[in-house]
Amino acid sequence: MTDVRDVIIIGGGPAGYTAALYTARANLHPLVIEGFNWGGQLMITSDVENYPGYADGILGPTMMADFRRQAERFGAEFVTDDVTRVDFSEQPLRVYVGNNEYRAESVVVATGASARQLGLPSEQTLQGRGVSYCATCDGAFFRDKNVIVVGGGDSAMEEATFLTRFAQKVVVVHRREEFRASPIMVERARANEKIEFVLNAVVDEVLGGEQGHMTGVVLRDTVTGETRELEADGLFVAVGHDPNTALFLDWLDHDDQGYLVTEPRSTRTNIPGVFAAGDVQDHTYRQAVTAAGSGTMAALDAQRWLEEQHHRREVAAPAPA
Ligand code: NAP
Repeated sequence: MTDVRDVIIIGGGPAGYTAALYTARANLHPLVIEGFNWGGQLMITSDVENYPGYADGILGPTMMADFRRQAERFGAEFVTDDVTRVDFSEQPLRVYVGNNEYRAESVVVATGASARQLGLPSEQTLQGRGVSYCATCDGAFFRDKNVIVVGGGDSAMEEATFLTRFAQKVVVVHRREEFRASPIMVERARANEKIEFVLNAVVDEVLGGEQGHMTGVVLRDTVTGETRELEADGLFVAVGHDPNTALFLDWLDHDDQGYLVTEPRSTRTNIPGVFAAGDVQDHTYRQAVTAAGSGTMAALDAQRWLEEQHHRREVAAPAPA
Protein backbone atom coordinates (compact mmCIF):
# COMPACT_ATOMS: atom_id res chain seq x y z
CA MET A 1 0.00 0.00 0.00
CA THR A 2 1.49 3.36 -1.03
CA ASP A 3 1.35 6.58 0.97
CA VAL A 4 -1.52 8.93 0.30
CA ARG A 5 -0.16 12.20 -1.04
CA ASP A 6 -1.81 15.57 -0.86
CA VAL A 7 -1.66 16.12 -4.59
CA ILE A 8 -0.67 14.39 -7.80
CA ILE A 9 -0.29 16.47 -10.95
CA ILE A 10 -0.67 14.68 -14.25
CA GLY A 11 1.11 16.46 -17.10
CA GLY A 12 4.41 18.20 -17.69
CA GLY A 13 3.57 21.36 -19.61
CA PRO A 14 3.14 24.97 -18.47
CA ALA A 15 -0.07 24.17 -16.55
CA GLY A 16 1.32 21.10 -14.78
CA TYR A 17 4.66 22.64 -13.81
CA THR A 18 3.03 25.84 -12.58
CA ALA A 19 0.56 23.83 -10.49
CA ALA A 20 3.61 21.93 -9.16
CA LEU A 21 5.43 25.16 -8.29
CA TYR A 22 2.49 26.58 -6.37
CA THR A 23 1.59 23.36 -4.54
CA ALA A 24 5.27 22.75 -3.68
CA ARG A 25 5.56 26.25 -2.22
CA ALA A 26 2.38 25.52 -0.22
CA ASN A 27 4.16 22.48 1.33
CA LEU A 28 1.86 20.01 -0.40
CA HIS A 29 4.81 17.93 -1.72
CA PRO A 30 3.37 17.38 -5.20
CA LEU A 31 4.19 14.36 -7.28
CA VAL A 32 4.23 15.31 -10.97
CA ILE A 33 3.67 12.42 -13.35
CA GLU A 34 4.97 14.45 -16.23
CA GLY A 35 4.78 12.01 -19.12
CA PHE A 36 7.58 10.30 -20.97
CA ASN A 37 7.74 13.20 -23.44
CA TRP A 38 7.49 15.96 -20.84
CA GLY A 39 7.31 19.59 -21.87
CA GLY A 40 4.19 19.45 -24.04
CA GLN A 41 3.64 21.52 -27.15
CA LEU A 42 6.51 23.89 -26.35
CA MET A 43 8.94 21.09 -27.10
CA ILE A 44 8.09 21.54 -30.80
CA THR A 45 8.35 25.32 -30.66
CA SER A 46 11.59 27.14 -31.31
CA ASP A 47 11.62 30.79 -30.18
CA VAL A 48 9.01 31.90 -27.67
CA GLU A 49 8.72 35.68 -27.68
CA ASN A 50 5.32 36.16 -26.07
CA TYR A 51 5.92 34.72 -22.61
CA PRO A 52 6.20 37.66 -20.20
CA GLY A 53 9.50 37.86 -18.37
CA TYR A 54 11.67 36.52 -21.17
CA ALA A 55 12.45 39.90 -22.72
CA ASP A 56 14.92 38.44 -25.24
CA GLY A 57 12.76 35.43 -26.10
CA ILE A 58 13.59 31.84 -25.22
CA LEU A 59 13.57 28.43 -26.86
CA GLY A 60 10.43 26.42 -26.01
CA PRO A 61 12.33 23.39 -24.62
CA THR A 62 14.60 25.64 -22.52
CA MET A 63 11.58 27.40 -21.09
CA MET A 64 10.00 24.09 -20.10
CA ALA A 65 13.25 22.96 -18.46
CA ASP A 66 13.21 26.26 -16.50
CA PHE A 67 9.60 25.68 -15.40
CA ARG A 68 10.47 22.16 -14.28
CA ARG A 69 13.60 23.24 -12.40
CA GLN A 70 11.69 25.98 -10.59
CA ALA A 71 9.09 23.49 -9.32
CA GLU A 72 11.86 21.02 -8.36
CA ARG A 73 13.63 23.72 -6.34
CA PHE A 74 10.67 23.80 -3.95
CA GLY A 75 10.45 20.04 -3.59
CA ALA A 76 8.21 18.82 -6.42
CA GLU A 77 8.97 15.20 -7.31
CA PHE A 78 8.71 13.82 -10.81
CA VAL A 79 7.85 10.54 -12.47
CA THR A 80 8.96 10.73 -16.10
CA ASP A 81 6.47 8.27 -17.46
CA ASP A 82 2.94 8.14 -18.84
CA VAL A 83 -0.12 7.55 -16.70
CA THR A 84 -1.85 4.43 -17.98
CA ARG A 85 -5.05 4.43 -15.88
CA VAL A 86 -6.86 6.38 -13.21
CA ASP A 87 -9.50 5.35 -10.69
CA PHE A 88 -11.46 8.27 -9.31
CA SER A 89 -14.28 6.11 -7.86
CA GLU A 90 -13.42 6.93 -4.22
CA GLN A 91 -10.95 8.66 -1.93
CA PRO A 92 -8.02 8.39 -2.03
CA LEU A 93 -7.87 8.97 -5.78
CA ARG A 94 -5.70 6.47 -7.64
CA VAL A 95 -3.33 7.03 -10.54
CA TYR A 96 -1.46 4.19 -12.22
CA VAL A 97 1.73 4.03 -14.25
CA GLY A 98 1.69 0.42 -15.42
CA ASN A 99 1.55 -1.66 -12.22
CA ASN A 100 2.66 1.20 -9.98
CA GLU A 101 -0.17 2.72 -8.00
CA TYR A 102 -0.01 6.30 -6.72
CA ARG A 103 -2.67 7.62 -4.33
CA ALA A 104 -3.61 11.17 -3.45
CA GLU A 105 -6.41 13.21 -1.95
CA SER A 106 -6.36 15.60 -4.90
CA VAL A 107 -5.34 15.34 -8.54
CA VAL A 108 -4.66 18.11 -11.06
CA VAL A 109 -5.18 16.97 -14.64
CA ALA A 110 -2.94 19.04 -16.94
CA THR A 111 -2.33 16.73 -19.87
CA GLY A 112 -2.82 19.44 -22.50
CA ALA A 113 -3.86 19.08 -26.09
CA SER A 114 -1.94 18.10 -29.16
CA ALA A 115 -2.03 19.96 -32.44
CA ARG A 116 -3.03 17.56 -35.20
CA GLN A 117 -0.22 17.01 -37.64
CA LEU A 118 -0.29 16.14 -41.32
CA GLY A 119 1.76 13.03 -40.61
CA LEU A 120 4.59 13.71 -43.08
CA PRO A 121 8.22 12.82 -42.20
CA SER A 122 9.39 16.11 -43.78
CA GLU A 123 6.89 18.00 -41.57
CA GLN A 124 8.58 16.50 -38.50
CA THR A 125 12.07 17.38 -39.76
CA LEU A 126 11.16 21.02 -40.43
CA GLN A 127 9.20 21.69 -37.23
CA GLY A 128 10.46 24.99 -35.83
CA ARG A 129 12.31 25.62 -39.11
CA GLY A 130 9.31 26.88 -41.02
CA VAL A 131 6.65 24.41 -39.93
CA SER A 132 4.48 25.74 -37.10
CA TYR A 133 1.22 24.90 -35.38
CA CYS A 134 0.53 28.31 -33.87
CA ALA A 135 0.29 31.59 -35.81
CA THR A 136 -0.05 33.64 -32.61
CA CYS A 137 3.26 32.20 -31.41
CA ASP A 138 5.29 32.23 -34.61
CA GLY A 139 3.59 34.65 -37.03
CA ALA A 140 5.95 37.53 -36.25
CA PHE A 141 8.91 35.49 -37.55
CA PHE A 142 7.45 35.66 -41.06
CA ARG A 143 7.52 39.38 -41.73
CA ASP A 144 7.40 40.02 -45.52
CA LYS A 145 7.58 36.27 -46.19
CA ASN A 146 5.29 33.89 -48.06
CA VAL A 147 3.45 31.39 -45.92
CA ILE A 148 0.97 28.55 -46.38
CA VAL A 149 -1.86 27.68 -44.02
CA VAL A 150 -3.33 24.18 -44.25
CA GLY A 151 -6.93 23.64 -43.16
CA GLY A 152 -10.48 24.69 -43.88
CA GLY A 153 -11.85 25.32 -40.39
CA ASP A 154 -12.20 28.46 -38.29
CA SER A 155 -8.63 28.11 -37.01
CA ALA A 156 -7.23 28.10 -40.55
CA MET A 157 -9.25 31.21 -41.49
CA GLU A 158 -8.31 32.98 -38.27
CA GLU A 159 -4.61 32.10 -38.60
CA ALA A 160 -4.50 33.11 -42.27
CA THR A 161 -6.08 36.48 -41.49
CA PHE A 162 -3.77 37.02 -38.51
CA LEU A 163 -0.70 36.12 -40.58
CA THR A 164 -1.45 38.86 -43.12
CA ARG A 165 -0.26 41.33 -40.44
CA PHE A 166 3.26 40.08 -41.08
CA ALA A 167 3.45 38.00 -44.22
CA GLN A 168 3.56 39.32 -47.74
CA LYS A 169 1.32 36.53 -49.01
CA VAL A 170 -0.71 33.77 -47.33
CA VAL A 171 -1.92 30.77 -49.30
CA VAL A 172 -4.68 28.70 -47.69
CA VAL A 173 -4.53 25.09 -48.84
CA HIS A 174 -7.66 23.06 -48.19
CA ARG A 175 -8.36 19.46 -49.18
CA ARG A 176 -11.86 20.03 -50.55
CA GLU A 177 -14.06 22.81 -51.95
CA GLU A 178 -16.41 23.33 -49.01
CA PHE A 179 -15.19 24.88 -45.80
CA ARG A 180 -15.84 23.67 -42.30
CA ALA A 181 -15.25 27.25 -41.15
CA SER A 182 -18.18 29.56 -40.50
CA PRO A 183 -19.14 31.61 -43.61
CA ILE A 184 -18.23 34.92 -41.94
CA MET A 185 -14.69 33.73 -41.27
CA VAL A 186 -14.31 32.51 -44.87
CA GLU A 187 -15.68 35.80 -46.21
CA ARG A 188 -13.26 37.77 -44.08
CA ALA A 189 -10.34 35.73 -45.40
CA ARG A 190 -11.58 35.96 -48.99
CA ALA A 191 -11.87 39.75 -48.70
CA ASN A 192 -8.22 40.02 -47.64
CA GLU A 193 -6.13 40.71 -50.71
CA LYS A 194 -3.04 39.10 -49.20
CA ILE A 195 -4.81 35.72 -48.96
CA GLU A 196 -5.06 33.25 -51.83
CA PHE A 197 -6.87 29.93 -51.78
CA VAL A 198 -5.81 26.62 -53.28
CA LEU A 199 -8.70 24.20 -52.94
CA ASN A 200 -8.86 20.46 -53.52
CA ALA A 201 -5.21 20.21 -52.59
CA VAL A 202 -3.09 18.56 -49.91
CA VAL A 203 0.53 18.95 -48.90
CA ASP A 204 2.43 15.80 -49.86
CA GLU A 205 5.87 16.95 -48.73
CA VAL A 206 7.54 19.90 -47.06
CA LEU A 207 10.73 20.93 -48.85
CA GLY A 208 13.86 22.07 -47.02
CA GLY A 209 16.87 23.99 -48.28
CA GLU A 210 20.57 23.63 -47.58
CA GLN A 211 20.35 25.84 -44.49
CA GLY A 212 17.85 23.40 -42.97
CA HIS A 213 14.94 25.79 -43.36
CA MET A 214 11.74 25.23 -45.26
CA THR A 215 11.67 26.43 -48.87
CA GLY A 216 8.27 25.22 -50.08
CA VAL A 217 5.88 22.31 -50.34
CA VAL A 218 4.76 19.72 -52.85
CA LEU A 219 1.02 20.10 -53.41
CA ARG A 220 -1.17 17.34 -54.79
CA ASP A 221 -4.49 18.09 -56.47
CA THR A 222 -7.04 15.77 -54.83
CA VAL A 223 -9.16 15.66 -58.01
CA THR A 224 -6.58 15.17 -60.77
CA GLY A 225 -3.76 13.68 -58.68
CA GLU A 226 -1.28 16.11 -60.27
CA THR A 227 1.54 17.43 -58.13
CA ARG A 228 3.38 20.74 -58.21
CA GLU A 229 5.81 22.68 -56.05
CA LEU A 230 4.82 25.89 -54.26
CA GLU A 231 7.54 28.07 -52.77
CA ALA A 232 7.00 29.31 -49.22
CA ASP A 233 8.99 30.21 -46.12
CA GLY A 234 6.47 28.93 -43.62
CA LEU A 235 3.77 26.29 -43.25
CA PHE A 236 1.11 26.74 -40.58
CA VAL A 237 -0.75 23.51 -39.97
CA ALA A 238 -4.22 24.43 -38.69
CA VAL A 239 -6.11 21.16 -38.93
CA GLY A 240 -7.39 21.09 -35.33
CA HIS A 241 -6.30 20.00 -31.88
CA ASP A 242 -7.07 16.91 -29.83
CA PRO A 243 -7.23 17.17 -26.04
CA ASN A 244 -5.23 14.46 -24.28
CA THR A 245 -8.17 13.19 -22.28
CA ALA A 246 -8.66 9.54 -23.28
CA LEU A 247 -7.76 8.37 -19.75
CA PHE A 248 -10.34 10.58 -18.11
CA LEU A 249 -13.43 10.37 -20.32
CA ASP A 250 -15.07 7.65 -18.17
CA TRP A 251 -14.66 9.75 -15.04
CA LEU A 252 -14.77 13.43 -15.86
CA ASP A 253 -17.40 15.55 -17.59
CA HIS A 254 -16.27 16.62 -21.04
CA ASP A 255 -17.67 18.34 -24.11
CA ASP A 256 -18.35 16.70 -27.45
CA GLN A 257 -14.75 17.31 -28.56
CA GLY A 258 -13.35 15.63 -25.46
CA TYR A 259 -12.22 18.76 -23.59
CA LEU A 260 -12.75 18.51 -19.82
CA VAL A 261 -15.47 20.71 -18.40
CA THR A 262 -14.79 22.69 -15.24
CA GLU A 263 -17.10 24.79 -13.10
CA PRO A 264 -17.21 28.43 -14.15
CA ARG A 265 -14.44 30.58 -12.64
CA SER A 266 -12.77 27.50 -11.18
CA THR A 267 -10.75 24.44 -12.15
CA ARG A 268 -13.09 22.04 -10.29
CA THR A 269 -14.31 19.04 -12.26
CA ASN A 270 -17.38 16.95 -11.45
CA ILE A 271 -15.30 14.78 -9.08
CA PRO A 272 -14.43 16.37 -5.71
CA GLY A 273 -10.66 16.74 -5.40
CA VAL A 274 -10.01 16.49 -9.14
CA PHE A 275 -9.05 19.72 -10.92
CA ALA A 276 -8.28 20.40 -14.58
CA ALA A 277 -5.89 23.06 -15.84
CA GLY A 278 -4.49 24.29 -19.13
CA ASP A 279 -5.33 23.28 -22.69
CA VAL A 280 -7.02 20.06 -21.54
CA GLN A 281 -9.99 22.25 -20.57
CA ASP A 282 -9.40 25.27 -22.83
CA HIS A 283 -9.79 25.28 -26.57
CA THR A 284 -10.13 29.03 -26.78
CA TYR A 285 -6.88 30.66 -25.63
CA ARG A 286 -4.31 27.81 -25.79
CA GLN A 287 -1.30 29.93 -24.82
CA ALA A 288 1.58 28.95 -22.52
CA VAL A 289 0.84 31.92 -20.30
CA THR A 290 -2.88 31.16 -20.00
CA ALA A 291 -2.09 27.50 -19.29
CA ALA A 292 0.37 28.57 -16.58
CA GLY A 293 -2.29 30.88 -15.10
CA SER A 294 -4.76 28.04 -15.13
CA GLY A 295 -2.18 25.80 -13.38
CA THR A 296 -1.98 28.41 -10.63
CA MET A 297 -5.76 28.38 -10.29
CA ALA A 298 -5.78 24.58 -9.99
CA ALA A 299 -3.06 24.67 -7.33
CA LEU A 300 -4.99 27.22 -5.26
CA ASP A 301 -8.26 25.30 -5.74
CA ALA A 302 -6.55 22.06 -4.66
CA GLN A 303 -4.95 23.77 -1.67
CA ARG A 304 -8.30 25.19 -0.50
CA TRP A 305 -10.05 21.89 -1.07
CA LEU A 306 -7.42 20.01 0.99
CA GLU A 307 -7.72 22.58 3.80
CA GLU A 308 -11.51 22.06 3.84
CA GLN A 309 -11.07 18.27 4.02
CA HIS A 310 -8.54 18.50 6.86
CA HIS A 311 -10.78 20.92 8.76
CA ARG A 312 -13.77 18.62 8.29
CA ARG A 313 -11.79 15.65 9.65
CA GLU A 314 -10.63 17.65 12.67
CA VAL A 315 -14.20 18.67 13.48
CA ALA A 316 -15.43 15.08 13.05
CA ALA A 317 -12.64 13.56 15.19
CA PRO A 318 -13.68 12.73 18.78
CA ALA A 319 -12.26 15.08 21.42
CA PRO A 320 -9.28 13.58 23.29
CA ALA A 321 -10.26 11.90 26.61
P1 NAP B 1 -11.84 21.92 -37.30
O1 NAP B 1 -13.08 22.74 -37.27
O2 NAP B 1 -11.90 20.50 -36.90
O3 NAP B 1 -11.26 22.03 -38.79
C1 NAP B 1 -10.14 21.30 -39.15
C2 NAP B 1 -9.91 21.53 -40.64
O4 NAP B 1 -8.70 20.88 -41.02
C3 NAP B 1 -11.01 20.96 -41.53
O5 NAP B 1 -11.29 21.83 -42.58
C4 NAP B 1 -10.42 19.65 -42.03
O6 NAP B 1 -10.82 19.34 -43.35
C5 NAP B 1 -8.96 19.99 -42.09
N1 NAP B 1 -8.13 18.79 -41.88
C6 NAP B 1 -8.19 17.90 -40.85
N2 NAP B 1 -7.23 16.99 -40.98
C7 NAP B 1 -6.55 17.30 -42.12
C8 NAP B 1 -5.45 16.70 -42.78
N3 NAP B 1 -4.84 15.63 -42.29
N4 NAP B 1 -5.01 17.28 -43.91
C9 NAP B 1 -5.61 18.38 -44.42
N5 NAP B 1 -6.65 18.99 -43.82
C10 NAP B 1 -7.13 18.44 -42.70
O7 NAP B 1 -10.67 22.56 -36.36
P2 NAP B 1 -10.40 24.09 -36.01
O8 NAP B 1 -10.45 24.95 -37.21
O9 NAP B 1 -9.14 24.09 -35.20
O10 NAP B 1 -11.59 24.51 -35.06
C11 NAP B 1 -11.84 23.77 -33.85
C12 NAP B 1 -13.04 24.41 -33.11
O11 NAP B 1 -12.66 25.69 -32.61
C13 NAP B 1 -14.25 24.63 -34.03
O12 NAP B 1 -15.39 24.40 -33.28
C14 NAP B 1 -14.14 26.08 -34.40
O13 NAP B 1 -15.39 26.67 -34.73
C15 NAP B 1 -13.54 26.69 -33.14
N6 NAP B 1 -12.80 27.92 -33.46
C16 NAP B 1 -13.48 29.11 -33.47
C17 NAP B 1 -12.83 30.29 -33.80
C18 NAP B 1 -13.57 31.58 -33.80
O14 NAP B 1 -14.78 31.56 -33.79
N7 NAP B 1 -12.90 32.71 -33.79
C19 NAP B 1 -11.47 30.26 -34.13
C20 NAP B 1 -10.80 29.05 -34.14
C21 NAP B 1 -11.47 27.88 -33.81
P3 NAP B 1 -12.29 18.79 -43.65
O15 NAP B 1 -13.19 19.98 -43.49
O16 NAP B 1 -12.20 18.27 -45.02
O17 NAP B 1 -12.54 17.72 -42.61
